[in-house]
Amino acid sequence: MVSDFTIGRSDFSVTVYVPWDCTNRCKFCSSKEDYKKRRCDFSKIKESLMLIRDSILPIVVFTGGEPSANPKMLRELLSIVDDKIVYINTSLPKKNSDEFIDIVNRYDCIKSISISRHKTTYEEDLELLHDIVQDEVIATIKKPVRINVVSQNEETFSIENVKKYVERWERIATLKGGMDTLVLNMRSDYVRQDRSKLHEMTECTLINELAQTYFYESHTFCNVCDTCTFSKIGENKEKVFRMQYHRGIMNTAVYFGNIAELNDLIIFQNGDICYDWDGTSDNISKFLNMIKKQS
Ligand code: SF4
Repeated sequence: MVSDFTIGRSDFSVTVYVPWDCTNRCKFCSSKEDYKKRRCDFSKIKESLMLIRDSILPIVVFTGGEPSANPKMLRELLSIVDDKIVYINTSLPKKNSDEFIDIVNRYDCIKSISISRHKTTYEEDLELLHDIVQDEVIATIKKPVRINVVSQNEETFSIENVKKYVERWERIATLKGGMDTLVLNMRSDYVRQDRSKLHEMTECTLINELAQTYFYESHTFCNVCDTCTFSKIGENKEKVFRMQYHRGIMNTAVYFGNIAELNDLIIFQNGDICYDWDGTSDNISKFLNMIKKQS
């Protein structure tokens, strides 16, 4: 029985699964099965989001499913947390893309969006992700963009492939207004990530190849994730293309006896609030009291 809680990572966030699924079938998807199990409930999600609005937690991430699939309902959710720092995960399909990009560009609370693109070319991505927008459309987004590349095995991230990713997205960063407007985030598949190897970055072939090819910038980690950041070698440090290799694990609550260190809070598509991705919510009312804004 969990008797007390602490907060782990500094960028602790509340992830909200929108109450509508996406039309893709990505092999590494960690939410697809959940959309079959949990009945989507928009009103319950709004109620739970209001608790977060009235809490000290600063960061909210909308994911799915596909947040861009219902702009009207997305606006309603955004209006509840418009004083928070908001990020959105999307595969940015063509359907509703104009309206969705308009929302991203207009809502001040939206600080950045993450767009899933897993292959080295647009044509290859089109085979995996249904009817996605052309790369050039991403250049019309006025907020910083993170390109999320998920791989089921590190071999996919051969240095040859990394150079192709960099070439593809550096071109869009240029169109978008500069290298600091877009970052390439290559990440391991959380579902398959071996927890015991999470922090073994120095043994990782990819990291060693990246360090020989690009400028090593930083290494950040916590109990549940590990990230190495590199950049293209260039004069002006501000204006260089950045890429990072990130590892994370599926279940992010860490237990020290009956104290739980939380690294995420999740609002599932049925409105349930849990503190782990497997739906754990033991004694959560105590944590929700802990984070309530003091009036
Ligand atoms: S686009 Fe995202 S939510 Fe949809 S199947 Fe792929 S990983 Fe899952």
